[in-house]
Amino acid sequence: IDQKADEIFGAQTIALLGPAIARVFAGERVDFEREHRHPDGRVSHHAVSLIPHSAGGAKTNGFYAFNRDITESRNAVLEIARAKEQLALALAGSNLSLWDFNCQSGEIYLDQAWARMLGEEPGETITTVEKLFARTHPDDVERVLEVSLMELKGKTNGYAEEHRVKTRSGEWLWIASSGKVVERAADGKALRVIGTNADITVRKRAEAHIEDLATRDPLTSLPNRRVLTDRIAHAMLTAERKDEAIFALLFIDLDRFKIVNDSLGHNVGDQLLLQVAQRLGSAMRKGDTLARLGGDEFAVVLEPLHQPEDAGPVARKIIDACAAPYSVDGHLLNISCSIGISVFPGDAADAATLLRNADLAMYSAKERGRNTYQYFSQEMNQRAVEKLALERALRAALQEGEFELYYQPKFSLEGDRLVSMEALLRWRHPQQGLIAPARFIPIAEETKLILPLGNWVVRTACEQVMEWERRGHARIPVAVNLSVGQFDASLVGSIGDALRASGLEPRCLEVEITENVLMRDVDENIEILRQISDLGVRIAIDDFGTGYSSLSYLRYFKLDTIKIDQSFVRNMVAKTHEASIVRAIIALAHSLQMNVVAEGVESVEQKNALGDMGCDEWQGFFNCEPLPADRFEQRFLLRSAANEGIAATLVMPAGTLLRNAN
Ligand code: C2E
Ligand code: CA
Ligand code: CA
Repeated sequence: IDQKADEIFGAQTIALLGPAIARVFAGERVDFEREHRHPDGRVSHHAVSLIPHSAGGAKTNGFYAFNRDITESRNAVLEIARAKEQLALALAGSNLSLWDFNCQSGEIYLDQAWARMLGEEPGETITTVEKLFARTHPDDVERVLEVSLMELKGKTNGYAEEHRVKTRSGEWLWIASSGKVVERAADGKALRVIGTNADITVRKRAEAHIEDLATRDPLTSLPNRRVLTDRIAHAMLTAERKDEAIFALLFIDLDRFKIVNDSLGHNVGDQLLLQVAQRLGSAMRKGDTLARLGGDEFAVVLEPLHQPEDAGPVARKIIDACAAPYSVDGHLLNISCSIGISVFPGDAADAATLLRNADLAMYSAKERGRNTYQYFSQEMNQRAVEKLALERALRAALQEGEFELYYQPKFSLEGDRLVSMEALLRWRHPQQGLIAPARFIPIAEETKLILPLGNWVVRTACEQVMEWERRGHARIPVAVNLSVGQFDASLVGSIGDALRASGLEPRCLEVEITENVLMRDVDENIEILRQISDLGVRIAIDDFGTGYSSLSYLRYFKLDTIKIDQSFVRNMVAKTHEASIVRAIIALAHSLQMNVVAEGVESVEQKNALGDMGCDEWQGFFNCEPLPADRFEQRFLLRSAANEGIAATLVMPAGTLLRNAN
């Protein structure tokens, strides 16, 4: 073996060759593989067999050497091994398992990954279709069979479906399975199907969670409005199919829930809602659907009913269940609910209308004093239509200038002098005549029209005071009413504008707010009030004693005036209880250096009693109902100015005014 051979055969081969030759001469056949390096640098693989021969004698005296080029087949084997390894890696990474079904024997080959998925002993499995179906979820078997058969019959070209299988420990896994017939007999009969199984349990759970988010109310886990609407639509279809079948929708709204939320915080409010939801649930029959529509609104579909009258007792039961006290966070709370009932098919033909009509009926239950239920009637619809018409008319009225301010005087109890006046809004409707604020303020609030309307009131009231002054009368301080809906970022600015434009000094303007301004969005509203107060404008609490206020707002900043609600004044002469409340309010106000005004004084007895109690001012029909500006001027400014010569003073005796008015 020379240098050249060493180059060609390589050191490795030469190292092999020595011992191999020794073994061959010992009479042994030797096989080995070697690399062959060609002069052009190419390397091929050869299988070498050395077979001894003895040329007839007993002793080996030579050998045959066979040299076979196996480069191609060797590469092919390597290639297969590599492909197999890649496939195994890919499968392991993909969570996929392979299966191979022999249609004739009914046997299925399943790989290692399948055993792993199902928590079985590791290893490949051969099982039967029957055994596999025994582990499939009973609700899924039919579907899996159906798609597989379609594939076997050649109606599909490959399939994919999802089903559940039970693991060894009894859990249900979601499996995405796909398969395809890969061999068929000449007559088209399927012989072999192969496919994959993938564990998609995690994805299914995520999907279920997303589905939950879209269909359930997160606080109570009850179905949400969307689901309810679907159920109603479904109930309608069912009812239409069966003649004479009816069902009812109950719209449930908690009474005064907002007060709990505002005074005790959202956390307590949420806890209360949860407990209410539980009670509602237990007051219903199994098949009925309870949903939360948001806030403190719930709805129930009662299905089916024999007659509309059957819904009433269920509503009663719900109201009673709701009424027992709740214990939340150490608070003992009482809450009632009002329920509106609409019935299909009588009250509506579609889900949205059925809901709206139950909602209308619920409002009517609230109007009837709450804690009760009401069936929907067409008349409610009529009222809703009127309300809509009113809303439209209200918008137009603002543009057409159909609003007016009436003024009601306030007198001092000591000396009966005109101290100030309250501006009260009126709508002079071209057809319906004068409309009182109670009829349109709530709608103005709902539609935000209260903002421009409220600005108009403040501006007009300020201008009126200055206008009278220009006409030579005394400057009379004026009070305007502000409703909750006006408490937004623009309020302080527009009050300031009104003062500047008219030239009225801020101390001559008072704003009257009710306690619910201080109940809702407390912090923001208090900040707005503080800014109004900083302008120099006075602040009065209106209808004092009727709200659910905790009086805690009195700590935050100084209010100027308390107006005792007319309901106390009305009964104070006849009922000692009411008289005590009035006395207590006066004492409270005075201890806080606040001015007290009694509203709704209608008799001299009431006025005298208030005087005895030390109340500061009064206002009411006893002396004068609110009047339009010109009549107010005539009665309280002009005549008395002429008669009494007090045009330059702020105050005048009311007794004189009464005389003058006659
Ligand atoms: P309020 O602020 O409590 O106004 C007093 C109401 O009691 C007025 O009704 C007045 O006419 C009436 N009243 C006065 N004296 C007596 C009396 O001796 N006996 C009886 N029974 N009633 C008396 P009005 O003008 O119908 O106003 C009703 C409510 O509408 C007001 O209650 C106020 O909350 C609201 N309102 C009136 N004007 C405006 C306004 O410009 N803006 C806002 N936001 N609300 C207003
Ligand atoms: Ca008022
Ligand atoms: Ca009042």
